[in-house]
Amino acid sequence: MHLGVEAQSSPEKQQAPPQLLRVAVDAPQHSGINAPLDYSSERLLTPGSLVRVPLGRRELMGIVWPGTNSGQTDPALLRPVTALLDQLPPLAPAWCQLVEFAAAYYQRSVGEVALSVLPPQLRELEGAQLLARLKKLAKWTAGQGLAPAIAPMQPILSPAQLEVMAKLDALLTAPPEQGAPAPVLLYGVTGSGKTEVYLRAAEHALQQGRQVLVLVPEINLTPQLEARFIERFAGRSIVSLHSGLTPAQRLRNWLAAHLGQAELVLGTRLAVFASMPRLGLIVVDEEHDPSYKQQDGARYSARDLAVYRAHLEKLPVILGSATPSLESWQRAEEGRYIRLSLPERIGGGVLPRVRLFDMKLLPLTKGVTTALTAPLLQALRERLDRGEQSLLFLNRRGYAPVLHCGECNWKSACPHCSAWRVFHKGDRTLRCHHCSFSERVPSACPTCGNQDIAPLGRGTERLEEQLAEALPNARVLRIDADSTKLKGELESRMQAVHAGEVDILVGTQMITKGHDFRRITFVAAVNPDGALFSSDFRAPERLFALLMQAGGRAGRDAGQAARSEMWVQTWHPEHALYKALAKHDFERFAKSQLAERESAGLPPFSHLALLRADARDAEVAKAFLMAAARWAAPLAEQGQLLIYPPVPLGVARVANVERMQMLVESNSRVKLQRLLSAWLPELGALKREHKGLLRWAVDVDPLAI
Ligand code: ADP
Ligand code: ZN
Ligand code: ZN
Repeated sequence: MHLGVEAQSSPEKQQAPPQLLRVAVDAPQHSGINAPLDYSSERLLTPGSLVRVPLGRRELMGIVWPGTNSGQTDPALLRPVTALLDQLPPLAPAWCQLVEFAAAYYQRSVGEVALSVLPPQLRELEGAQLLARLKKLAKWTAGQGLAPAIAPMQPILSPAQLEVMAKLDALLTAPPEQGAPAPVLLYGVTGSGKTEVYLRAAEHALQQGRQVLVLVPEINLTPQLEARFIERFAGRSIVSLHSGLTPAQRLRNWLAAHLGQAELVLGTRLAVFASMPRLGLIVVDEEHDPSYKQQDGARYSARDLAVYRAHLEKLPVILGSATPSLESWQRAEEGRYIRLSLPERIGGGVLPRVRLFDMKLLPLTKGVTTALTAPLLQALRERLDRGEQSLLFLNRRGYAPVLHCGECNWKSACPHCSAWRVFHKGDRTLRCHHCSFSERVPSACPTCGNQDIAPLGRGTERLEEQLAEALPNARVLRIDADSTKLKGELESRMQAVHAGEVDILVGTQMITKGHDFRRITFVAAVNPDGALFSSDFRAPERLFALLMQAGGRAGRDAGQAARSEMWVQTWHPEHALYKALAKHDFERFAKSQLAERESAGLPPFSHLALLRADARDAEVAKAFLMAAARWAAPLAEQGQLLIYPPVPLGVARVANVERMQMLVESNSRVKLQRLLSAWLPELGALKREHKGLLRWAVDVDPLAI
């Protein structure tokens, strides 16, 4: 509806002075526009309303933002709001607050965050189109809410679950006047019954007529969680929100949540921003998972925002994990989170026995290190004979990470990146995993013509091949990003494992996630040592979580649990991480890691931000960062913050762009925030002084450094 037209037809409105308001629009990045922009309107508009406004020569969607007009623009020059999408109820004040917090905390503009978390299609629709969508949605919802013929089965809670639920109940039923309940860290190994606790808590909220938001790291890796919610809440309206949906589906599901029709929203990190007017509970499953952190644009942590959102809306939030992030663990230690534990597997299933296989004990064959050691093959054979399934985990896809010429020492470097191109045997390509540059494998060495160029090292593709050679009777299946590129391929491969059509499953970390493989009794980590000596301080934490998670795939069937085993091939069996793993002792591991972090002044005992800069020439990026550091030096000194010298990223050059970063460290989150918000607005001008600088970005609470 066009407001101008409407205003003319209603004389009393014509006399009222136009309302001054502000509207969040997605202004181009670093345009210097951080706050919502001033506009005028003939009609009183509720904050949170979706509108169309002119910006420059364009017209875009915006959101009427709470708060007052800056007053800096002469009212006579203010441009009016063009149209109001009043087919939709406005976004709630709490939603706007969440966005405003995220924008401030991750140092982006309010408009950018607000608009980027709406479904992309919503931004393009005119009022009439939106009405059509809403009609379609109404039809769809009507078809959805069919009550089941029989009530879904509910297991009788175990004593540990009962204890957890008793404590949770107190939070779930706490009157809102008591303020925000403390976040709950639900700590329990795979198979300990965490999901059942989520289901019960969700049921409680749904019975109160509230909506429930469940966040998962990657939806297609956790189909069973989704299936269990659908089964338990048959007859309720459940929608998913993730980037794998078509634009139309995403809009439909978002609208269902926004209108309060969807009772349960299951989604990935972007769903933390779902507009849910009656939200009553947030669950974050596998809260430690790195995929909760957005890696471009506003680099937000959906886990952290979920906690903030719960606080803001005074709701309970449950963070679940077998290996909580050390940040969450530390908060529980400090009593800021309530830790509830499920110490045992349901049905008495034990965790697989961990065997640290010492690679140094193998007879050395010169120049040959094999991943498929004889004892490992023997262990696989035993499972095969017993008709049990095995899982081999190797976090490296492709056939071999590099191709090498023994004559002249040529290696398959990527011409555009400081990285090797990976040899993929299946389609005979050399492919760069950083810039995707791909070429057919040369038949001879490109520099000396030697015909005998050989793969160095091993990826999942090669492991699969070697397994097939060594165990010709075994049915081997590989699951990684390459083998599951086609739509539906992941599902059908997983299905084959469940159906028992596979004896040995080989894969990357994809196979360590939420899948409930009943018949796996043997899990082997073929070559996990790399992460032990990584320069990234979080690498051990991640490795421990990954191995615990991989081990959790074994022995989920209590009958087989007793003889299930996890095999870790390592050159460092005495390493503290493996020692703790062998005892399934996350607490011990967490304690030692936290002690190390504390003495090194690392998170969660300090707060970090990374300033990144990209340029064709590393010197340009470096000069920019150094100039930025000089600008901030007095402020940093005042606030006792540390700004480290710029260094190249681990893979410094990608697609011919040199990437540098500079770490900022503070013992106080507030001080860090204060510095960043004074500092970053200056960087736009600084960028213009550094010709050749392509872009810069800030990453607050970076996951990897
Ligand atoms: P987690 O989420 O910690 O991996 P789940 O909730 O998936 O654990 O529980 C593991 C298995 O035990 C699932 O198959 C689940 O259906 C079953 N289960 C959970 N709680 C109970 C219970 N109280 N009684 C019987 N079976 C249960
Ligand atoms: Zn050569
Ligand atoms: Zn490349």
